[in-house]
Amino acid sequence: MGEIYAQRVDLLRKGLAAEKVETLLVTHLPNIFYLCGFTGDSGALLVDERRVTLFTDGRFTGQARQELPVGARLVICRAPLINSIGKKLAMKTVRVGFEIAHVMVAHMSALRRAAGAKPCWVGLNRAVEGLRAIKDPEEIARLRRAGVLASGVLTSVLPLLKPGVREFEIAAEIEYRMRTSGAEGPAFKTIVAFGARSALPHARATGKRLRKNELVVLDLGAILAGYCSDLTRTVYVGKAPPRIRKWYEAVRQAQSAAIAATRLGASGEDVDGAARNVLASAGLEKLFVHSTGHGLGLEVHEEPRLARGQKRILQAGNVVTIEPGVYLEGVGGIRIEDDLALHADRAEILTNAPRDFMEL
Ligand code: ZN
Ligand code: ZN
Repeated sequence: MGEIYAQRVDLLRKGLAAEKVETLLVTHLPNIFYLCGFTGDSGALLVDERRVTLFTDGRFTGQARQELPVGARLVICRAPLINSIGKKLAMKTVRVGFEIAHVMVAHMSALRRAAGAKPCWVGLNRAVEGLRAIKDPEEIARLRRAGVLASGVLTSVLPLLKPGVREFEIAAEIEYRMRTSGAEGPAFKTIVAFGARSALPHARATGKRLRKNELVVLDLGAILAGYCSDLTRTVYVGKAPPRIRKWYEAVRQAQSAAIAATRLGASGEDVDGAARNVLASAGLEKLFVHSTGHGLGLEVHEEPRLARGQKRILQAGNVVTIEPGVYLEGVGGIRIEDDLALHADRAEILTNAPRDFMEL
């Protein structure tokens, strides 16, 4: 695995050189993990032209020694990390990049104070995220396993959807089954929404009991070997009215169109437009209140985004969700979400729960 970190750091350095930045301070934990394999929950990484140095504290000494690749330096700090890093940089008249999307204002002013006037700070937006958007075959293998795990768990809880069961009971069962299937945990708070609550795209599971003739939205993801899945299915408990069937068919078709549009050379906006056009021709565009999808990897929402205004071209190695939905307050919502890996020659669907309309 050491090789892979060296390759990633090399690529990162090329990007930094283009920005004329000699040193990058990485503070976002998923980015630190990506560059050196450290899984501790406190640390910062300095990448300069010659070295990679992890700053952390005494709680993580053993863990960092085990996880860091050969050649990476480890500094165990007794003072707050920011002060130690600031002092380390104080000697250098260099351009130091920092992660503009992740550094808190308070930390930045502490850094400037500790480092003094010599370093020139350069805010960078996606120095590591841009690299992370292109997954290698090992990362895609992990995402595939996370997708299959989530699909199995989702399918396995459908028989529990009986009138009287509460949303949080289903959510707890899903998270328990993910853990006993080997997941490190849920990738986000599991969404279970019955009836009219399904109209909230990010409904938290509550004590609401399932009644007959209600929609059920289940949106769940597992973290497996560091990588996330994200999967949604909508089912109906009882016999669905024609309007709900029609909506489901439209969402299903919108998803198929977006999946077909996810190919090399297309932009995030193209994929989003493909889903939106189908829903527009069914007269449902106004009910589609979010974007079509997002990148998936070490984090559940990352690059690339499949949304209006996203002009960046999709590349082999991108892994994204495709999740159109329609929502009407007081009635309910329908969303279908799958995970997709884009290869040089095809798109591969990583999640395999059944997609046909189900009446339970
Ligand atoms: Zn989701
Ligand atoms: Zn999602």
